[in-house]
Amino acid sequence: MSMHHQMAIFAFAFGAVMGSFANVLIHRLPMGLSIVFPGSQCPSCSARIRWFDNIPILSYFILGGRCRACKAIISPRYPLVEALSGFLFAAVVFRFGIQPATVAMALFAWALVVITFIDLDHRIIPDVISLPGTVLGLAFSVVPGFPRPMDSAVGVAVGAGFLFLILYSYEKIMGEEGMGLGDVKLLAMIGAFLGWQALPVTILVSSLTGSLVGVGYALIKGESVRKFPVPFGPFLALGAIVHLFFGVGLIQWYLGKL
Ligand SMILES: [Zn+2]
Repeated sequence: MSMHHQMAIFAFAFGAVMGSFANVLIHRLPMGLSIVFPGSQCPSCSARIRWFDNIPILSYFILGGRCRACKAIISPRYPLVEALSGFLFAAVVFRFGIQPATVAMALFAWALVVITFIDLDHRIIPDVISLPGTVLGLAFSVVPGFPRPMDSAVGVAVGAGFLFLILYSYEKIMGEEGMGLGDVKLLAMIGAFLGWQALPVTILVSSLTGSLVGVGYALIKGESVRKFPVPFGPFLALGAIVHLFFGVGLIQWYLGKL
């Protein structure tokens, strides 16, 4: 096994543990609960989950997807979030090797997972993630690697400015809210971590996938696209992830076509 593969396996395991923590945040942050105390509990019977029943991904299958105490069904979303987080960590290590930017991008991808599921559940993007996230992204850009500090700062300004303008004009024209300010702050965070160069791919991918899923929903349900119950944050997160792994190639391919 090559060094790279060993690193990726270690990164997956570490990412899965971070995914376990992501589950705690997704569950507790919107309720304003402490994220440290008490330790993990069954959402049904509040029984404390002991460490050996709390191993990311594995415990879910060992327990047959049920709480050891009350046998209540555990949502498959828990191991899914853990696996997703592990997969993203491994992919970041594979893509960037070992350098300061790897830590930044792994944290960034992890924050996007937390934001995605909180937004899906509650239609909010917590400021306690997006605002410190933006500051952290700016701070990381000072470390040699990527993006450069100026790209990161312009990314914040243009990302927030662009979405805010859309938000503002949509409300003026349609007289109703399309996106929330949470999306504006999320795009600022994306700009901070990836630099302004990431914004075209992020916006393109998110609006394309968002429209496709929204129209698909309307066709299947026979309802107006406006009633589409999924918020925009997860699509922005997807767009950022696509740029993180494929952005440079996509931009080169597009410029090559010109
Ligand atoms: Zn239980």
